[in-house]
Amino acid sequence: MTEIEREAMDYDVVIVGAGPAGLSAAIHLKQLDADLNVVVLEKGSEVGAHILSGAVLDVSGLDALIPDWAARGAPIKTRVKKDRFLMLGQGGGLRLPNFLMPPLMSNHGAYIVSMGNVTRWMAEQAEALGVEIFPGMACSELVYDEGGALKGVVAGEFGLNADGTPGPHYEPGMILRGKYVFLSEGARGSLSKQVIENFELAKNADVQKFGLGIKEIWDVPPENHNEGEVTHSMGWPLGWKTGGGSFLYHAENNQVFVGYIVDLNYKNPYLSPYSEFQRWKHHPMISEVLKGGKRVAYGARVVAKGGYQSIPQSAFPGGVLLGCSAGLVNLPRIKGNHNAMHSGIAAAKAAAKAIKAGRMGDELSDYDTALREGVIGKDLKRVRNVAPLTARFGPLGGLTLGGFDMWVANLFKFNPLGTLKHGKSDALSTGKAADYPVIDYPRPDGVLSFDRLTSVSFSATNHAEDEPVHLKLADPELPIRVNLPQYAEPAQRYCPAGVYEIIRDEDGTNPRFQINAQNCVHCKTCDIKDPSENITWTCPQGCEGPNYPNM
Ligand SMILES: Cc1cc2nc3c(=O)[nH]c(=O)nc-3n(C[C@H](O)[C@H](O)[C@H](O)COP(=O)(O)OP(=O)(O)OC[C@H]3O[C@@H](n4cnc5c(N)ncnc54)[C@H](O)[C@@H]3O)c2cc1C
Repeated sequence: MTEIEREAMDYDVVIVGAGPAGLSAAIHLKQLDADLNVVVLEKGSEVGAHILSGAVLDVSGLDALIPDWAARGAPIKTRVKKDRFLMLGQGGGLRLPNFLMPPLMSNHGAYIVSMGNVTRWMAEQAEALGVEIFPGMACSELVYDEGGALKGVVAGEFGLNADGTPGPHYEPGMILRGKYVFLSEGARGSLSKQVIENFELAKNADVQKFGLGIKEIWDVPPENHNEGEVTHSMGWPLGWKTGGGSFLYHAENNQVFVGYIVDLNYKNPYLSPYSEFQRWKHHPMISEVLKGGKRVAYGARVVAKGGYQSIPQSAFPGGVLLGCSAGLVNLPRIKGNHNAMHSGIAAAKAAAKAIKAGRMGDELSDYDTALREGVIGKDLKRVRNVAPLTARFGPLGGLTLGGFDMWVANLFKFNPLGTLKHGKSDALSTGKAADYPVIDYPRPDGVLSFDRLTSVSFSATNHAEDEPVHLKLADPELPIRVNLPQYAEPAQRYCPAGVYEIIRDEDGTNPRFQINAQNCVHCKTCDIKDPSENITWTCPQGCEGPNYPNM
């Protein structure tokens, strides 16, 4: 095969991904040294287009980065006024008194924001400091030097035919080289996954765990809206054996962000996280907010939930892992944006210091230490047993025992349960179809609940039809040979965008596995949950994927 010729550009720091982690790193590098050349590459058509987190933001990261963010017009206006935690049964529920909740789960002082809009604003701040930001530049390959250190990425290749050969409008993309490369691709980053494998970065860490978050934005009537109110729930419809829960945030302009996170270690292969979410909206304590309203956007994304014990070594020769590429979410708080920002700041400090000392391409071990021993480590360490306890005892047991562990950690600065292990990966947690009942989900009513393809149209997702399928099967026959008989091919149900289908002849015979890659919302669930670990999510070309408005 002939080597593809590409132009190369050199920078001090190349940053992959314009999320809160990557943008914080870019901003802080320029704050530390205005002469540093910094580039940020983003696969979305614009900054924010692939950012799903309609979020409750702990502003500690932003306070450290841009203390006068309010004066600079940051789109962070809605202070949390009220916290509610509901335990739902099928027809009713009860609200847990706030004094029973561990204090660290209080959202007092936090803001309800659209992280899409926050990252758009952060990109403006970065550009004003001289950072170059290129949206529509999917980074598809890693580039190593002769010694094996990461030295850059290939970005912006597009125009390949479906069979992978260059088409008439083929552009080979560019190599962007840096003294250091920061990978801030969010949870289950495709390049980050390769780097973790290549440098064996996870060998001393526990397995990484994930949840699938599915979210919608609704415009609701003013009488249903209570700006600043934050509601979380557990229980119905998932029940008390499967980990997961909901969020409902009353943002500004009579909008609510509603969503459901299902832990991907669920066992029953017939479970559909999408249908659980649709069903949940019919609960009377939820539908009373949505009724008379209109759904305006839809999206999905995995969230890393392994926490402290699952953080891989985050510095390696030539680069670092930031934010959710290193898995920095505080699970019981469902918050990772603040740690993403703190990690960007810490990585910028380590790289600026190294470059000033004339170093390049080596390991920024100061960064790895800062991650574990600084503010991020402190935030994650005290809640480290909640995920393993939930996996063992279900959400109620996890909440009770995890709550006790967090209370003690809060009061006495140690976790009485030590550090619990997570057990199996999410893929291997999937049970055999023969051992579990089929779940009969109600049909969507088209008012509160919707079918998957209608939902995907509300993510404004776009992929060309005549390009290589970006969801790669290691063994193309395996879905029909193994997954269908053993697991009833769960890809049909775990994908929240209807990418995977089993199609058959009219008489029900001859099953085939079909990949509708054009529907993919880049949530990465398939890369995690396939029980045979047969699917690899790769970056599609150009600026494809969802186009979230203000998620
Ligand atoms: C449903 C849900 C709800 C959440 N709610 C909250 C909340 O309320 N509060 C909170 O603090 N946190 C919340 N989180 C967690 C939060 O979203 C993450 O912690 C945060 O997004 C991590 O930031 P990041 O910069 O590491 O990654 P991301 O925000 O995921 O950003 C990564 C960026 O990199 C880009 N990218 C990825 N790969 C490539 C590539 N190869 N080439 C080019 N670009 C690439 C992506 O398009 C994206 O723009 C939630 C997560 C989910 C899924």
